[in-house]
Amino acid sequence: MTAPVTARPVRSYGVFIDGAEIQPSTEFITRENPGTQEVVARFAHGDLAQARAAVAAARRAFDQGDWPDRPGQERAAVLRALASLIRRDQETLARIDAEESGKPIRLARGDVATGIALTEYAAALAMTSHGEAHTSLGPDFTGLVTREPCGVVAMITPWNFPLLLLMQKLPFALAAGCTTVCKPSELTSGSTLEIARLAAEAGLDRGVFNVVTGPGATVGHHLAQSRDVDVLSFTGSTAVGRSIVEASAGNLKRLSLELGGKAASVVFPDADLEDAVDGVLFGVLFNQGECCVSGARLLVHQDVADQFVRALVDRVATLRVGAPLDEDADIGPLIHSAHLDKVLAAVDGARAEGARVVAGGTRLTGDGFGAGHFMAPTIIDQVSPTSRLFNEEVFGPVLAISRFRTEDEAVELANAVEYGLANSVWSKNIDTALALGRRLRSGTVWVNTTIDGAPQLPGGGVKSSGYGREMGQAGFEEFTEVKTVQIRSGKRTPFFRGGAR
Ligand code: NAD
Repeated sequence: MTAPVTARPVRSYGVFIDGAEIQPSTEFITRENPGTQEVVARFAHGDLAQARAAVAAARRAFDQGDWPDRPGQERAAVLRALASLIRRDQETLARIDAEESGKPIRLARGDVATGIALTEYAAALAMTSHGEAHTSLGPDFTGLVTREPCGVVAMITPWNFPLLLLMQKLPFALAAGCTTVCKPSELTSGSTLEIARLAAEAGLDRGVFNVVTGPGATVGHHLAQSRDVDVLSFTGSTAVGRSIVEASAGNLKRLSLELGGKAASVVFPDADLEDAVDGVLFGVLFNQGECCVSGARLLVHQDVADQFVRALVDRVATLRVGAPLDEDADIGPLIHSAHLDKVLAAVDGARAEGARVVAGGTRLTGDGFGAGHFMAPTIIDQVSPTSRLFNEEVFGPVLAISRFRTEDEAVELANAVEYGLANSVWSKNIDTALALGRRLRSGTVWVNTTIDGAPQLPGGGVKSSGYGREMGQAGFEEFTEVKTVQIRSGKRTPFFRGGAR
C-alpha cells in the first residue's frame, strides 16, 4: 500500500455564530489524518459561553427573524442554492471528510453526493408541505390541521459520516422553517463548518444555522439541557443518547435519537449466493465497519454455511486496505488508536469465548501503513449468540458468524440483541422476504441489498437504537408541530340557559 503524501496547509476553523465565523484566540482542537498521522485541521475549542450565544442567536432568528414565515418557495430557493454550492465544492468536502474520519475518498465522494440529493429533496418538501382542511364536520364547523416549524433545533453528530449525517438533519429542519445549532464531533468538524460557510453564501439568514465545535460534555450537554432548544436531533452512541434523555427533561424538548446498532445479514440457501457474499462483505466493511447500520452479524443457513464462509474468506483476501486518499482503497484506517485497541480487544474476547478467527484479526503495520490505525478485515466463525461479540456494537471491520436451521430460529437470533436499527435478508423466495420483512424488529429491513437508500426513505431505530426518523416525509415531520385550528361560523347557540326555565 502506498499513501499519496501531499503537504497541505492545515485547515483552520472558528465557531459560526449569528452569521459570523469567530476564530479561536487560544484553545484549539487539532485533528490528525488517522491514516498518516499528519495534522490536517484545527477547530475552535468551543465553550459554554459560545454554546449559549449560538442558542441565543438561533432563538432570536426564530422568534424575531423571518425565516419561519418565509414562503416555502423562498426557503426552497436557498436550499437549492446550497445544494449547488455543495456540488461546486464536492471534491474539497469529500477530501475533508476522508482526511478527518479516515474513510476512503471514494466513499466520501458518495457521502457528499447523497448530501446534495438530500438537500434537493428537502427543498421540494419546503414547497409541497401542507396541512389538512376538514370540511365535513357540519355546515358551521371547519377544522384546519397545519404543520408549523418546531422552533430551535439542536443537532449533535458523530464522527463516522460527518457531512452525510448533518445533511440528514439540517436541510429538513431548514425546509420546515426551524432555526438551528449544530455541534459536530470534535474529531471531524471540518465539513460542518464548510457547510455553514456555504449556507451563508447561499443566502441563509444570519442566526439560522450556527455551529459550535468542542467537547460533548460542555457544548453538547448545554444543547441537551437548554430550555431555549425545542428539538434535539442526536446521532451517536446509545450511552450518550441515554444521558441526553436525562439532560433534556427540563423543558421536555422533543428528541430524535439515532443510536447504536448490531445489524444482522440473514442468508438463506435460496439466495443468489454470489450476490450475498458481496453484499455481506459490503454490509460489514463499508466505512471500515464504523457504521451504525453495519451488518456486523452474519446469520447463515446451516446447509450453505461452510461454502459461504469459504467464499467470504477468499473474497476478503482481495480487498485493499489503504490510506484515506488512496483512490483504490476499499477500507481505510480506524478513527483513532484507542478505538483500534477496543476493536482488537473485542476480537481477542471472541477467541477466548471459543469463536474461530478465519480471516484478519490483527492490526496492519509495516510497508505503507506507517503509524496509521489500520486493521485487517476480520471474519469470525462459530460465534455463540450468548457471546459479547454477538451482542455488543464493535464498530469496526469485524464480521461475527452464527448458523441457523429454520426461519423461526433466524428471526429469533436476529432479534435477540438489544439494538434494532437495520437488518438485511438474502433470499429469492418472496414468502421468506415478506415474512422476515415483517418479523425483524428494526427500523429498516433490506432485502437482497444492504446499506441502501434514497432521500424519500426514512431511517431510524427501535429498541436501544433510539426513536424518531430521519429523511423522507417522516424525517421532515420531526421538525414540525401539528396545530389544530377549529373554526365555528354563523351565530353561536348559547350553552348556558341562565335560569330561563
Ligand atoms: P458519541 O455518542 O461518543 O458522540 C456523538 C456526539 O455526541 C459527538 O458530537 C460528541 O461530542 C457528543 N457528546 C458526547 N458526550 C455528550 C454529552 N454528554 N452530551 C451531549 N453530547 C455529547 O458517538 P461517536 O463515538 O461520535 O459515534 C459512534 C456512535 O454513533 C456509535 O454508537 C454509532 O452506532 C452511532 N451512530 C448512529 C447512527 C444512527 O443513525 N443511528 C449513525 C452514525 C453513528
